[in-house]
Amino acid sequence: MRGELLALKAGHVFDGARVGPSGMLLVEDGMILDVDFTGSEPPFEATTLDFGPDAWLLPGFVDAHVHLCWDGTKDAVAHVTSDDRETLLDVARENAARSLDVGVTTVRDLGDRDYLTLELRDRLPAVQRPEIVASGPPLTSRGGHCHFLGGEAEGADELLAAVRERAERGCEVVKVMAGGGDLTPGDSPLMQQYHPDDLRLVIAEARRLGLTTAAHAHGTDTLAEIADLGFHSLEHVSFLTRYGVGVRRAVLDEVVRRGTFVSLSAGVFPEYEPVLPEEAARFGAMDEIVASGARIVPGTDSGVTAAKAHGVYPYALVGLARYGMPHLDVLRAATRGAAEAVGLGGTKGALRPGADADIVVLGSSPLDDIGAVVDVRAVYRAGERVR
Ligand SMILES: [Zn+2]
Repeated sequence: MRGELLALKAGHVFDGARVGPSGMLLVEDGMILDVDFTGSEPPFEATTLDFGPDAWLLPGFVDAHVHLCWDGTKDAVAHVTSDDRETLLDVARENAARSLDVGVTTVRDLGDRDYLTLELRDRLPAVQRPEIVASGPPLTSRGGHCHFLGGEAEGADELLAAVRERAERGCEVVKVMAGGGDLTPGDSPLMQQYHPDDLRLVIAEARRLGLTTAAHAHGTDTLAEIADLGFHSLEHVSFLTRYGVGVRRAVLDEVVRRGTFVSLSAGVFPEYEPVLPEEAARFGAMDEIVASGARIVPGTDSGVTAAKAHGVYPYALVGLARYGMPHLDVLRAATRGAAEAVGLGGTKGALRPGADADIVVLGSSPLDDIGAVVDVRAVYRAGERVR
């Protein structure tokens, strides 16, 4: 409520960087007013909610890679291709609510049809959806990966026009299918879709217009061609070759040296474990990427399959831990790190005075057991309790 001072207490607070005991957050008008680690009493005028000694307060989670208007069924491609706009907007509205429910308060949507995500953002009040950063339809070659979303563009003129259109419509990021994928007939994750000169042009124009860039790439050869171009984030980074997973060390070193964000889809719902053999290769490089010190952020790819339907996010954090990331680093990647990756480092992913009051309450310590991220007790979005 406007003008109401809220005091949230719990046994621990993780502020996006470090953990403090005896935490209290003061919230007013959708913003964090103060973070207190000293165990002091709430101001007398505050409405106080104490979640108890075992609970943890954290910044709302950030998902660097989702597809809100994809329905997360085995027929997701058919639906996103042929369903009408209102049906897809209904799907997106449900997925937005599902995201909030598991503690995801900010998402970067990296591929919709007809810029529907921007429409969703305009239509829904903040408390009914996560904060949304959006790419619109990804740039792709003619007939290339996910061409059915409407983002086909080839050659300098078309590519520049496509970047400008996204800027004019209000997108914050340009997504490029640098390589292929599995979802489109005739397409393969090993294919390269653009010449590096074309990609340079896209990156430069996006930068000129104040947009970031994200490149989809599964193949080792594709990654080798694009690692030094200056993309803000790389998506999937599966290091696939014709013979299976093949990490090329020099490429990974370049990614680490540049500080490029690496967005990893590290989780599926437990009922899909273990993943199918043909999908397992997607996870084969993750332990080496984690060990490399790259700037990893969780990007679930939510919506494209049933295994990765919306709401899968906590399992992606469990996955990062499984591939060797220390639990505290997982929490940092899920909050401050991912907020920086999506361009909202100032206001999201941190509990500090002036940040948005997007908050997750967990029932127990995620440092003791990363599975605690599934145990969400409350979620606040812009200062209002939404779960
Ligand atoms: Zn995706």
